Amino acid sequence: MLTCEWNSQEGWGQPKITPYQPLSLDPCSSALHYATECFEGMKAYRNWSTGEVRIFRPELNAVRLNKSAARVSLPSFDEQEFVKVLQVLVGLEKRWLACKQDLEATSASTQEDEGDFIYIRPFLIGTGNTLGLSKPVEALFVIVTSRMARYNAQPLKLLASSPAEMVRAWPAGFGNSKVGANYGPSIQWQGYAAQQGYDQVLWLFDEDKKFVTEAGGANFFVVWRAGDKLELVTAPMSSGTVLEGITRRSILELARDRMPELTVIEREFGVQEIIEAARESRLLEAFLCGTAYFVAPVKTIGVDGQDISVPLQFGKSGEYAAKIKQWLMEIMYGDCDHEWGIRVY
Ligand SMILES: *Cc1c(COP(=O)(O)O)cnc(C)c1O
Repeated sequence: MLTCEWNSQEGWGQPKITPYQPLSLDPCSSALHYATECFEGMKAYRNWSTGEVRIFRPELNAVRLNKSAARVSLPSFDEQEFVKVLQVLVGLEKRWLACKQDLEATSASTQEDEGDFIYIRPFLIGTGNTLGLSKPVEALFVIVTSRMARYNAQPLKLLASSPAEMVRAWPAGFGNSKVGANYGPSIQWQGYAAQQGYDQVLWLFDEDKKFVTEAGGANFFVVWRAGDKLELVTAPMSSGTVLEGITRRSILELARDRMPELTVIEREFGVQEIIEAARESRLLEAFLCGTAYFVAPVKTIGVDGQDISVPLQFGKSGEYAAKIKQWLMEIMYGDCDHEWGIRVY
């Protein structure tokens, strides 16, 4: 793990890499009482044939971390330094990811290991030893990593939330920052959805308009036909109720660049529009996207006791989600050279 301490007098100290171990914190640490915490989620990928390791657009995580940090009065971490320390840490940990040469050299790994990745969790917390409700004068930046097996998300069942009872985020709030305070309180609805047999919550906002914002901890897209147009639609950043996912942004960029048949739209839309599109057989796809879930097709959306069926033309995925997922995988795993895939040495 990597740690780096900060205090308001001296600024950032020297980053340290140590074995994974518990942190020692003052019980009055700001993060424990006032949720002065923000985090990032990233992955490192190794190409099975070449053994090369890459991280995906880490400079965007650096920018977002600082945006989240500012929202909870934490110090910013130099963005170039963020990418640099990440490179050093992943450079050490990449030995946990197998590749074809390893397979030939030892019997420790098998083809089953192909596609495994390292999950990277950078986070920043307010520390210090006073309970005063004020800007933390001490902070700690940490990065932990964990090897995880590749998995292919099965098509998901979403349960739409009831905005009269609970919302994930609201305008001028902090749903557009990756701060821990957004997530703890969302687990309650997630638990309710699971109890009802659904995989994730589709977070709606506004009791009347029931705007579709995000799903679980991921961004949400639909593909539908509108007149003679084929539209790829997602909620806009302007409402402040959506986190600006790097996967979301990359999908918008790829779709605008490589899918001329699609009209790409960021706008507010209500769940009623999905219901109507489904009823008129215009709904073609829905999917979640984010680092954790990657691109996960949706097969069902439960709204007010009714289940809307989302088509899956390719059996386990819609056509567009499948294509986008393939392109992103090629970039992440370095099957093609692309400026978004940053090599780790
Ligand atoms: C992290 C996160 C996402 C996805 O962001 P990526 O950068 O694509 O991983 C989307 N929504 C929420 C609420 C998140 O926390």
